[in-house]
Amino acid sequence: MSFFKFCPSCASTHFTFPDNRRFFCEDCGFTYYHNIAAAVALVFTFEDKVLFTVRNVDPDKGKWDLPGGFIDPNETAEEAACREIREELGLNLQPSDLKYVTTSPNNYLYKNVPYRTMDIFYECALPSNGINVAAEDEIQELIWVKRSEIDLEKIGFVSIRKVIGEKYLK
Ligand SMILES: [Zn+2]
Repeated sequence: MSFFKFCPSCASTHFTFPDNRRFFCEDCGFTYYHNIAAAVALVFTFEDKVLFTVRNVDPDKGKWDLPGGFIDPNETAEEAACREIREELGLNLQPSDLKYVTTSPNNYLYKNVPYRTMDIFYECALPSNGINVAAEDEIQELIWVKRSEIDLEKIGFVSIRKVIGEKYLK
């Protein structure tokens, strides 16, 4: 099933949209690529602990997540990471504070539209664990979890579960 019911250009129902990747209208030729979106995720560490956010919004409300979000048009990944951290945690970081970790693909279902993302992971070691939520609408709480006590089942997104499991779980 497609999440489009009609061609956005001519309202025809005669279209193909295999794997929700390339929408093609057989009547008017309208073509739309539902490309992947780029996003950033931040792994904050302090001593032997990793910082998780608890999501306050769907998808995956109540699950563990990492700070971060979608990259805006014309932003670098590092600029997006610094902006998201300022918005979510009120912390002012510089791009040079971020250490690149890896990338991992993710699925993000929002209001019945299945987005596919490429999540870019950065790490940042903090000098203290005194960090607070600035965006209470998005984040229920922050939790510092020892690497040996990370419960992958509590992590919502597949990309974050994979990277945390491979690189941070002890
Ligand atoms: Zn059309």
